Amino acid sequence: MSTLESNVAAAEKYLMRFKQFATGHFINGAFMVPEGNSLIDNISPIDQSVLGQIAIGTDIEIDHACDAAQAAFPAWRDMPGSERRALLHHFADKIVERADEIALIESMDTGQPIKFMKKTAIRGAANFRFFADKAPEATAGISSFQEEHTNFTSRVPIGPIGVITPWNTPFMLSTWKIAPALAAGCTVVHKPAELSPLTAMLLAEIAKDAGIPDGVWNMVNGYGQVAGKRLTEHPAIKAIALVGSSSTGPLVMKQGADTLKRIHLELGGKNPVLIFDDADFDRALDAVVFMIYSLNGERCTSSSRLLIQSGIKSRFIEALAKRVANIRVGHPLDPATEVGPLIGKVHYEKVKSYFNIATQDGAEVLVGGKVCESPNNGNPTGYYVEPTLFVEAQNDMRIAQEEIFGPVLTAIGFDTEEQAVDIANDIQFGLAGYIWTNDTGRAMRLSRTIEAGMLWVNSENNRNLPSPFGGVKMSGVGRDGGDYSFDFYMEIKNVCLALGTHKIPVLGGFS
Ligand code: NAD
Repeated sequence: MSTLESNVAAAEKYLMRFKQFATGHFINGAFMVPEGNSLIDNISPIDQSVLGQIAIGTDIEIDHACDAAQAAFPAWRDMPGSERRALLHHFADKIVERADEIALIESMDTGQPIKFMKKTAIRGAANFRFFADKAPEATAGISSFQEEHTNFTSRVPIGPIGVITPWNTPFMLSTWKIAPALAAGCTVVHKPAELSPLTAMLLAEIAKDAGIPDGVWNMVNGYGQVAGKRLTEHPAIKAIALVGSSSTGPLVMKQGADTLKRIHLELGGKNPVLIFDDADFDRALDAVVFMIYSLNGERCTSSSRLLIQSGIKSRFIEALAKRVANIRVGHPLDPATEVGPLIGKVHYEKVKSYFNIATQDGAEVLVGGKVCESPNNGNPTGYYVEPTLFVEAQNDMRIAQEEIFGPVLTAIGFDTEEQAVDIANDIQFGLAGYIWTNDTGRAMRLSRTIEAGMLWVNSENNRNLPSPFGGVKMSGVGRDGGDYSFDFYMEIKNVCLALGTHKIPVLGGFS
């Protein structure tokens, strides 16, 4: 039996229960598929087979989950941080125990290659451990002295949180939000993406198994416009952490306005990678290929705009084209696969549409630009596209301005540093940027002028959990990571103590 066959057999075993029983919600410690909910098919991106059915939650389930999160909040808030830390470490242990199952199910549900998903459970567990260790000190603040008063601050958890996640790498992204919220002492209602709901159910099961108290963690499946919308409007929910597209972000802000929600938005990107003539050619090439073609290009921090300086442009593009043409497209459970199928039909049609748009706008399709007919042992029904490279593009073309969110790279030439900065910044997004140069002064100048929340110099996307993660412009509002996460999930309270010596103004004291 090949590794692909044994992976498929293992995945089928794990998926059996999702095929037999509809995937519902997890509310106040109970798993449920309410009678009134409609059920939709969960379609596999690999071959359009049905992976099971998903219950579509309504306002009723969201209200129920928010009420549970509100009722559970005081006890969870008041639990000593050291106890929360122990529980969340226990939770991380349980994730690790189910790492293979999580990876296989995530691959089947999203089309992401197992090569990358193998680490997803480990990353998720690491998120829990990192924030768990911070739980005991999360409430600590600062003190500030005046002559006759002393001020001190503390942080208190803000309350029940709504977490709304997208379909790309859903397991890891969910833990990135939920772990700090729980560590801070908040309770959670999670609304996963309707296109990739399965590992959210695994997380809920792990929460139950790990002994997270009922109501502290709730999960409701459903559509964004219904369940997601209600969650953003519910008065018990004090803050919303959304990871999603730049069109959903403003909607969530508006929906949360009446109840004055604190809103954290991690949205789309069209991130530039700037390659200068003096860059380390081979390392830059590896990083450029990795940062757009890994994870099927369905990655918010992908470097989807290549800005390449004229001196090395032709040599770089030639080497790049060879590498792109050589990328292995295939079944996501094949360990050799580098690019798998796209998440679903609507997204597949969107990505495909850019192949025509590119030529209509006057760019050249140097590699790819077609659907992949038979990467799957001749089965043509999956949502596969060829890794694609557009060259000779201008920055005002749609392929340079819009987030395609697939294995598609747009290359644009430049001559000077100033031109590179202008091109990099002439876009509505500002999530990430990548700079390749051996000139330290230039790297420092660019790090000041490029409009992005995160920049990497001579590196692909390297995550450091204490560092801030987030974007500017239409890529988002707010930061995650380290203490920045606690700033979002907690309120600062100031207490002012008098020494008993100061003069209090006297009104009405005339005799
Ligand atoms: P999406 O915005 O369509 O959906 C994201 C989530 O929001 C889903 O759960 C959806 O049901 C929900 N939603 C939709 N409309 C809603 C509404 N009116 N109210 C409340 N919830 C609503 O995004 P997607 O297509 O699932 O995900 C891909 C997008 O996510 C890309 O743009 C990508 O760049 C972005 N993303 C950003 C980051 C980041 O860190 N900046 C990370 C991953 C993905």
